[in-house]
Amino acid sequence: MSRKIILATSNSGKVREIQAFFKDLNFEVVPYTKFIESFEIEETGKTFKENAIIKAKAVYDELIKAEIYEIVISDDSGISVEVLDWQPNIYSARYSGINATSIENLNKLISELKKLEVQNSKAFYTASIAIISPKGEIFTTHGWMHGRVIPEKIGNGGFGYDPCFIPDGENNTLGILPDNIKDKYSHRIKALKLAKLILKNI
Ligand code: IMP
Repeated sequence: MSRKIILATSNSGKVREIQAFFKDLNFEVVPYTKFIESFEIEETGKTFKENAIIKAKAVYDELIKAEIYEIVISDDSGISVEVLDWQPNIYSARYSGINATSIENLNKLISELKKLEVQNSKAFYTASIAIISPKGEIFTTHGWMHGRVIPEKIGNGGFGYDPCFIPDGENNTLGILPDNIKDKYSHRIKALKLAKLILKNI
């Protein structure tokens, strides 16, 4: 029987990327909402790492109450843009307001770039992954993807801010570039590669 990794997220873009990453390993990767009701987790941390741990711990604790003892993984990620003083950073998911959708956040970023009348700005994505073992040990890993953002959406691929982000070394946005190209640069894939090393030893 394959081992389970329970994801402390229901963000379909993240779930898809993380499931694709682990598909060659003998792990069944499932969002936590397959086992327990979805619930709000307040991200009160000051860093991606703190928020990743808060999310993984919240889900781990609920699973333990339901007597489910499995590995839990969370991802806290976001984009930092130079001309915006490296914001929205940890506020990426709430850039346009508390319950903002991905499209609203993307539109807000584009409108801020337009206000500043810039053609592009250096930017980078950060991903922090927290892993909690069935025994409750906590591990974290990180990854970054550097590039630039432009004040327009090009393509519908990827998710979140991808349609306005061009990775260093490419001329197209992640809205146009296929998943396998995004994976070459991806902050999340870099952090997941490190997470894989930890998982082998849990
Ligand atoms: P979190 O779910 O609280 O970690 O929020 C992550 C935020 O950053 C969301 O607004 C995502 O859309 C955005 N984000 C994180 N990773 C990516 C990515 O790979 N592409 C596009 N947007 C991302």
